[in-house]
Amino acid sequence: MHNFLPIAYFRNQFVPFGEANLSIATHALHYGTGAFGGLRGIPDPQNDQQFLLFRLDAHCKRLSNSAKFLHYDLPADKIQQILVDFVKKNRPTTSFYIRPFVYTSDLGIAPRLHNIEKDFFVYGLELGDYLSPEGVSCRISSWYRQEDRSLPLRGKISGAYITSSLAKTEAVESGFDEAILMNSQGKVSEASGMNIFVVRNGKIITPGFDQDILEGITRDSVLTIARDLGIEVIERSLDKSELFAADEVFLSGTAAKITPVQRVENYHLSTERPITEKLREKLTAITENRDPKYQDWVFPIAV
Ligand code: PMP
Repeated sequence: MHNFLPIAYFRNQFVPFGEANLSIATHALHYGTGAFGGLRGIPDPQNDQQFLLFRLDAHCKRLSNSAKFLHYDLPADKIQQILVDFVKKNRPTTSFYIRPFVYTSDLGIAPRLHNIEKDFFVYGLELGDYLSPEGVSCRISSWYRQEDRSLPLRGKISGAYITSSLAKTEAVESGFDEAILMNSQGKVSEASGMNIFVVRNGKIITPGFDQDILEGITRDSVLTIARDLGIEVIERSLDKSELFAADEVFLSGTAAKITPVQRVENYHLSTERPITEKLREKLTAITENRDPKYQDWVFPIAV
């Protein structure tokens, strides 16, 4: 059971989490016509009167775009103000995860996005490690990542997560921790809720935006950090066998942070992971606001 933060934002106001409930007839529940964000925050290790949200502006922008795909006008600055107020009201005591959600809130049937009421809610939960920081085993999924011609992959559309769910469960039921999905071209796309990176000969390779990936904010952070550290980064299509032949493979996501991959199918990877560890150390320092160079990525909220 999760430890939910006590206050939710629901129907334009802050209410106790237990009172933020929806009808079984809610349109989005039936058609997957929602879109969400996912942010991590922590109490500031240097200042107990402050919380830190990582890359708040990028998350608000992505959610605002996702809302646009649902024909809902929700400006990024409005989302940001609600999220800041949300943190101030909750004053979490540990690392937490915030889940903002836009959705078709009408009661009624018929899939559509026009002439239908939409709404926005926010809730949060305490969140430790989503995947083992020691590393995970990955199965190549028999389910394929969707294509942008079927649904807007630049949004985090809730209906798309049926594929992630099928892939994750298939992986876990066959003894793996996580799934790696190929795209319809048979190239590596991403994991069930993380982007993927391969290290070969000191260079980092990750599938580009044309590989049906989610435009991950941690992915963007990793690429920026790597370039700043002088590590060569290549965004291109990636073959399955490159995962098996890699020196290092890691996953990135808000929930998963940087998680090393120990094994892909039955191909074991080295336990020496100099680049993964270097990036992970740097990302942790940045999220804890211990790296002045990346101060702009950390949004402090005083309470
Ligand atoms: N891909 C998918 C399918 C995801 O759900 C996520 C998590 N939001 C990611 C990648 C990683 O994105 P981010 O770094 O923005 O959390």
